[in-house]
Amino acid sequence: MPRHAAHGLAVGAPIRETRRQGFAPSIATGVALFQKTPSRFVSEVNPPSGVAHDDAYYFICVGEQLLSISEQGIPRPVTADEFRWLDVDVSYKHYLGRWDHRACYALAAQGSVPEGFALTGLRAWLGRVEPDFFYLAGRAKQIIEWHRDHRFCGRCGSKNDDHLTDRAKCCQECGLVTYPRLSPSIIVLVRKEDRMLLARNAAWPARMFSTLAGFVEPGESIEQTVHREVREEVGIDVDNLRYLGSQSWPFPNSLMLGFHADYAGGDIVCHDGEIAEAHWFHYRDQPNVPGGTAISRWLIDAFIEEMKERERRDGA
Ligand SMILES: [Zn+2]
Repeated sequence: MPRHAAHGLAVGAPIRETRRQGFAPSIATGVALFQKTPSRFVSEVNPPSGVAHDDAYYFICVGEQLLSISEQGIPRPVTADEFRWLDVDVSYKHYLGRWDHRACYALAAQGSVPEGFALTGLRAWLGRVEPDFFYLAGRAKQIIEWHRDHRFCGRCGSKNDDHLTDRAKCCQECGLVTYPRLSPSIIVLVRKEDRMLLARNAAWPARMFSTLAGFVEPGESIEQTVHREVREEVGIDVDNLRYLGSQSWPFPNSLMLGFHADYAGGDIVCHDGEIAEAHWFHYRDQPNVPGGTAISRWLIDAFIEEMKERERRDGA
């Protein structure tokens, strides 16, 4: 569908990774970005009594960017102490929860950037801070964008207030409750013996390929989305779906659910306008694929590792 086709360009899109000062490869690559354990961050709607706010973290959003301090090339949010000296106009402040007992807030602000501070896009945090901390920054940005886009009730047009006990907004007039927007989507590596199906989006550079992806539609199960998206994008059937893991992808608000699936039939026919080309690649002959911070790369690496393990076993 056109709307999803347009959205699909962003899903699983290649990430430009540049090596910067302070970059720590060990936290930027591999499965480290895929969070299968409880987060260090504790989500709360209201701060519990007794929480100190002197050392709070302020994730300050100015337009599409985050106001940050760079320490040896690694961005971090402004602290409460530093915030006192900032000359910015805050239009909204939202408590998020605690990071190691430090209160965390998301703020919407306008104003000039003082010396020593910088405005950075969230992508600049990707792979440069601890993964849990990147997702916390992504959470802050998504909450502020949700606030920006839901100040008024979508049903009656009256003003929305923050809900007292839920992370939600409530209409002053009609009582309609709206929650932060999340867009669940699937991302799938289709396998056929020792080969994998990778596709190049029409908007990507030549030789850059990735897994297939698309948004869940109302009424669908996640598994049905996998079958539909694969059929829509490349015209083939799949079966034997295996769920491998998920990734919050805050550009702008996706939750990506990653699968492997086996080829079950049909010939590759690329979706007009969205997929420029799609091919079966042997696991020892992969093209350029997204970097280690993207779930698509994880799905590809998991397949390659499995094939190599099989090769070692069969050769032993
Ligand atoms: Zn209303």
